[in-house]
Amino acid sequence: MVLDKFREECGLVGVWNNAEAANLAFLSLYAQQHRGQEGAGVISSCSTLQGNRFSIHKGLGLVSDVFTDFDFSTLPGDNAIGHVRYTTAGGEQLANVQPFFAEIAGGKLSLAHNGNLTNADELRSALINDGAIFSATSDTEVLLHLIARAPRHLPQVERLISALTQVEGAYSLVIMWNDRIFAVRDPNGFRPLALATLGEGLIVASETCAFDLLGAKYIRDIEPGEILEISGKNETKQYFPFGLRKPSPCIFEYVYFARPDSSVFGRNVYGVRKRLGEELAKEHPVVADMVIPVPDSGVTAAIGYSQQSGIPLELGLIRNHYVGRTFIEPRQSIRDFGVKLKLNSNTDILKDRSIVVVDDSLVRGTTSRKLVAMLRSSGAREVHLRISAPPTTDPCYYGIDTPEKSQLIASQKDTAEIARYIGVDTIGYLSLEGLYRAVSSTPAERPPFCDACFSGNYPLKIGRAKTRTQEELFTQGPALRIV
Ligand code: AMP
Repeated sequence: MVLDKFREECGLVGVWNNAEAANLAFLSLYAQQHRGQEGAGVISSCSTLQGNRFSIHKGLGLVSDVFTDFDFSTLPGDNAIGHVRYTTAGGEQLANVQPFFAEIAGGKLSLAHNGNLTNADELRSALINDGAIFSATSDTEVLLHLIARAPRHLPQVERLISALTQVEGAYSLVIMWNDRIFAVRDPNGFRPLALATLGEGLIVASETCAFDLLGAKYIRDIEPGEILEISGKNETKQYFPFGLRKPSPCIFEYVYFARPDSSVFGRNVYGVRKRLGEELAKEHPVVADMVIPVPDSGVTAAIGYSQQSGIPLELGLIRNHYVGRTFIEPRQSIRDFGVKLKLNSNTDILKDRSIVVVDDSLVRGTTSRKLVAMLRSSGAREVHLRISAPPTTDPCYYGIDTPEKSQLIASQKDTAEIARYIGVDTIGYLSLEGLYRAVSSTPAERPPFCDACFSGNYPLKIGRAKTRTQEELFTQGPALRIV
């Protein structure tokens, strides 16, 4: 069975100690809809005399599709976790919609995952050989089995650590297990996860835009390699069981993925994205009548480009906001049609003008090619394409959906060939140095990031075996800091 590992982009939430937990989880999924549009789910936990009762609702589609007219009284309890997921379309994928739930020795376990495990194939084969039953194709299910099989006499957190030391790759996790929630970031810290106070309780979410919606107050990011255990009346314990590793958060969150009004990895995305545009204008200036953003992903960088260059910003491409990615992903034929459905050129302002089109990235190049044809048919005299990131040359194995290398236009063609294929007069990509300048607060700074999609430098090998043995782990014991 082929795992759909290259197609996972997700958003997470966990709400602790709030009578409206499920409803608030739903709302924060709404705010994080951009992180995954093909499935959504919420699991709540309610304490009863018989122990914790978990209730679940999930389905395929947008958050609004899944929860339209939904009766939240069927998700009772003060704690809840939620997930949005982007994956391949199709009914058979329902089994992959998270959060996952399992009844294991030691209670009820639910889990939501953002990222990709790079050694899931080996672990899954080993587990299947050992009699495990899998019902989904997602790598996340491996985690449930590993937790379920961890030594039962151990406290919950040590069972969790035992499972996590066997996996490699990218994982931000929100886990609700009986009467507590665990929030986890892998030692590299590939994907974001942040903590805030919400009313009398706490909330964790992938992006801070979810906090803004609910009036939650940001406290801090969950640190790379941290397990945060939340229980009782907001009691929190931090564990750092994985040893030191150089963090490598995903730089592409700034380029494309995160919402501009969020802060990820301690930086405001809007600010970084605008600086990407400024750096781009410095590196690739051009004489033109107007700067045209490709909505929505190119808008913030285009503002930066326009302000830096002094060339006015105009909306030469108008987006239909009622078309989501859901409708344009499934097949190439529909995808082609979908570009026009989503974006139209604003003919009146384009005729006989020379334009700079700013987008965040070129992947296959198919969208830009169509957009440029549209702009030219609207009469644009010169079209200069500026990309606010370096060429995307290598696929992501850590949780961003990218096609395989052979499908990435920048891995197959040089810049001049790309310009010809797209049909532009000139093309300019931001350099890797320019990208780092935009994410740094001082010129001397070079913060650590994963930039593998632009450099091919992967911080973790794919398919790497576990790094520490059970024995090593439990003779040393997990490092514990209580806050
Ligand atoms: P393409 O036609 O394949 O070159 O697509 C380029 C467009 O895809 C750009 O406008 C990007 O904003 C957008 N894009 C970049 N990365 C992703 C991704 N991982 N998932 C979906 N869209 C993306």
